Amino acid sequence: MASRKPAAEDLNLLNIVNRQYDRAAAHVDLPAGLLEQIKICNSVFYVQFPVKFGKEYHMFQGWRAEHSHHKKPLKGGIRFSRMVDQDEIMALAALMTYKCAITNIPFGGSKGGVKLTPRDYTEEQLEKITRRYTAELIKRNFIGPGVNVPAPDYGTGEREMAWIADTYDAFHPGGLDNMACVTGKPISQGGIRGRREATGRGIVYALREMFRHPADVKRLKLAGTLEGKRVVVQGFGNVGYHVAQILHDEDHARIVAIGEWDGTVANPQGLDLAALRAHQKKTGSIRNFAGGKTLAKAGDCLEVECDILIPAALENQIHRGNMKQIRTRLIAEAANGPTTPDAEEYLLKKGIEILPDLFMNAGGVTVSYFEWSKNLSHMRLGRLEKRRDEAYRDNLVKATEDLAGARFPAPMRESLLKGSDEEDLVNSGLEETMITAYNEIRDVLRRYPKVRDLRTAAYILAIEKVSQSYLELGVFP
Ligand code: NAD
Repeated sequence: MASRKPAAEDLNLLNIVNRQYDRAAAHVDLPAGLLEQIKICNSVFYVQFPVKFGKEYHMFQGWRAEHSHHKKPLKGGIRFSRMVDQDEIMALAALMTYKCAITNIPFGGSKGGVKLTPRDYTEEQLEKITRRYTAELIKRNFIGPGVNVPAPDYGTGEREMAWIADTYDAFHPGGLDNMACVTGKPISQGGIRGRREATGRGIVYALREMFRHPADVKRLKLAGTLEGKRVVVQGFGNVGYHVAQILHDEDHARIVAIGEWDGTVANPQGLDLAALRAHQKKTGSIRNFAGGKTLAKAGDCLEVECDILIPAALENQIHRGNMKQIRTRLIAEAANGPTTPDAEEYLLKKGIEILPDLFMNAGGVTVSYFEWSKNLSHMRLGRLEKRRDEAYRDNLVKATEDLAGARFPAPMRESLLKGSDEEDLVNSGLEETMITAYNEIRDVLRRYPKVRDLRTAAYILAIEKVSQSYLELGVFP
């Protein structure tokens, strides 16, 4: 009998997210209709719009999905990528709902995207496309401080968010809360300090919390803290760069490889990240960096031996085709959907732990929530209390020194005297959010003894929280 070719792996992110959801929902005792309502996407806006470059008209396809209206406004990034399609946007919107629930952020989930490769356009052209897409969202009421609040995602950043805010403002003259229509803006345009690095920093806070639990570290077959741990990061963009940099600078982890779309650089002794960033800025690529060995393919980084592997680029990066080559103890999912279900099943069986996307990359939306709330209050965080805080600290330090008859060493004194500014407060709120969420996910594992993996536990936590909202709303008597 002829051997049958194995079925191709299903890489559709919507199917994957739904499969993951169903796996978790099977453990939860709730009415089937309510579980279905939490799973499905409430509405999707699809638009084709023209943009004129010189005398030419170019057509673009855009989406904005609103997954869940159980809390408002809805929140979720805008992605510019040629891979964008409706299913991907709906899947990412669902992940946003679950992410917000896990981190106790009072938003429903949404996501948007435009199908394009940013590298193919000039800055001026990208501005035109972004403004036109925003106008389409405004016309359909898919954006607004109390309705739906976008943020950066793959292929977009502060620049695009500033264009979005300015376009929204032009359509709503005099609107006092206009700046809260989008987050991830530059500081001068109502952004918040700490947002740029928030997703990466949130991942580090989650990892630190995991490493504070000896039983969790033992399960990874590791020991100690993050210091000296070998880390590989795939994607040296906003999230990947910051997670690598913070782990390197603050936790003294060893970043042994970084992967980008056009190749990987590796150094078992650890990469000098500042030098690598400078090289990338100068040459437009991480390839041929003198401080490491260049490996040919983007995916090569995933196969470099390490303790912690951080995919921070795109979905479906760890799949049936490369899962057997993964040599790590822990996968910390910074990107959305980087591990396929088949690969996950295989890796879990091998004892490799996965900290899932719907928890790990929630730092971005957490600090976006702080930015939105700052925009609505029209006041920088810490502005009222910083000097008072410093005066109190000054008294306390002087009284302690008088009693002890000695002065604190200079660096310690300086740090004791410093009042909390906006970035300190943002980081503190982010740390609190990630620590609480980690422990709530851990608690699900305790409450549901049949559940063994962190992704299912995170989904169960999300389902519990969203269902509570619906039940208290009275939608499901
Ligand atoms: P980004 O565009 O700033 O960076 C992505 C990087 O990945 C780019 O440098 C790109 O060149 C690189 N890349 C592309 N294909 C690659 C490949 N095959 N191998 C290796 N690198 C590749 O995007 P980002 O904001 O850093 O987002 C990265 C991921 O994190 C996405 O999945 C996004 O949904 C997720 N995420 C981002 C945020 C945020 O705040 N920006 C929040 C939550 C989740």
